[in-house]
Amino acid sequence: MKKWEENIRRVVPYTPGEQPDIPGMIKLNTNENPYPPAPGVRRALREMKEESFRLYPDPACSVLTEALARRYNRPKEQFFAGVGSDDVLAMAFLTFFNSKRPILFPDITYSFYPVWAELFGIPYERPALDEEFRIVKEDYERENGGIIFPNPNAPTGLYMELAEVEDIIRKNPDVIVIVDEAYVDFAGPSAIELVDRYDNLLVVQTFSKSRSMAGMRIGFAVGNPCLIRYLNDVKYSFNSYTMSRAALELGAEAVKDEAYFQKNIKKLTATRERTKKELKALGFRFPDSGANFIFASHESCPAKEIFEALRRRQIYVRYFDAPRLHNYLRITVGTDDEMDALLKALKEITAR
Ligand code: PMP
Repeated sequence: MKKWEENIRRVVPYTPGEQPDIPGMIKLNTNENPYPPAPGVRRALREMKEESFRLYPDPACSVLTEALARRYNRPKEQFFAGVGSDDVLAMAFLTFFNSKRPILFPDITYSFYPVWAELFGIPYERPALDEEFRIVKEDYERENGGIIFPNPNAPTGLYMELAEVEDIIRKNPDVIVIVDEAYVDFAGPSAIELVDRYDNLLVVQTFSKSRSMAGMRIGFAVGNPCLIRYLNDVKYSFNSYTMSRAALELGAEAVKDEAYFQKNIKKLTATRERTKKELKALGFRFPDSGANFIFASHESCPAKEIFEALRRRQIYVRYFDAPRLHNYLRITVGTDDEMDALLKALKEITAR
């Protein structure tokens, strides 16, 4: 080891899903939306003047936070925007989890949480999900330095009713509770409606799933203006120009088209429900997903074998080689045609 290596911050990074680019492949491994963004995004992209790229973007991200404020019918001071929800969540960890007491998040959840906790030196504990992969809300009633969980959870897809989410927030008035709602638009009511009642709540959402804009990297947080100011203080201590001019403008455009948004969600959830039925008929079981993916296990065929057999057919799904997860596949809901191809392949693979 070189002497200088002693001074290096060494971390175990998060592993993102693969991004293969093979003609004809079916990509169901990173929970992207199979449909294009709202038509207004295309129009705005065409009208965008590269001349404007000479100038820095607005560090306050105002066009986007104002569009969000209109969409959710609340003050713009309650919004914070960032480079995908990963950026927003990382800033939130750094800002709100600054206690010697451990923060809490489930043992099975978004695998970025322990990575940020390690990176920022935040102590953490991971209460176990129950036998059916549900979050046990009573586990979040002990002393802690903050709480974060996704709703729906990932990679299980299970949505927790808002009354239970509210219970966790209410029982933890002295710490910040972050609800990561990356998939909530496919599931049920958002905790955003609780923001006015609980000053310790931060809700984080993304444009990557329900708004079909994973490649543009847009995420946001909603919380009381005091929390948002604290978040901005950390952001401005780190990188003031996080979001590009293109992301700000195109994101604002996407939020304006509510009809397209609703149509996109309706189409996707209909495909998800149909896929659930057909997977069941093929011998798969899964938690009842409220997300744009299904976390499925076959009654006799090991997940790893299915994963590899699908891959040979250029159908990409996500496999996690981890305790309790190793016999499951996380399958993103694609178009109806993609699901038909997947189901046909699964039928052949599992019949062997
Ligand atoms: N939270 C959860 C639970 C996720 O699954 C993801 C997607 N990887 C994210 C946050 C981050 O998404 P993005 O950075 O694209 O907004």
